[in-house]
Amino acid sequence: MTATTFAKCTRCQKKYRSRGEWNAVYNAGIMTGILCPACQTPEENAEAVINQATTFYGTTQPAQPADVAELLVNRCEKAVRKFAELAVDTGISFPVSDVVKSVIDGLPAVYLKAFDQPLADVLTGIVQSILDGSIYEGGSTNA
Ligand SMILES: [Zn+2]
Repeated sequence: MTATTFAKCTRCQKKYRSRGEWNAVYNAGIMTGILCPACQTPEENAEAVINQATTFYGTTQPAQPADVAELLVNRCEKAVRKFAELAVDTGISFPVSDVVKSVIDGLPAVYLKAFDQPLADVLTGIVQSILDGSIYEGGSTNA
């Protein structure tokens, strides 16, 4: 058994083909293997999604859901700013759901599965706390 290449599924030894949702297996932030779609448990799948999302974010640190959350906050801030400008220009104020939808439309699909709850709910909470300023007060608490 060699650990130098990941050309086979770590679990069933199926040969890797760039087809389907193969996922990297991480241990403490280091890629230790790959899993074919058939061998992934839903838990591993979610973990891989977060790893992928964090890779997209451009860090080599172990994947933390908090990192994904930080990126989502950035996206939401941009969207809130954009909609605030639109509101000034047009005199129309937009509902939070429009802001949330525009953030979701701009996200890679991996984010849609990165949370236990629907992403729209997560983003609505973020957008609302940006709008009322509570996101900027003190540390972040995930209640
Ligand atoms: Zn497999």
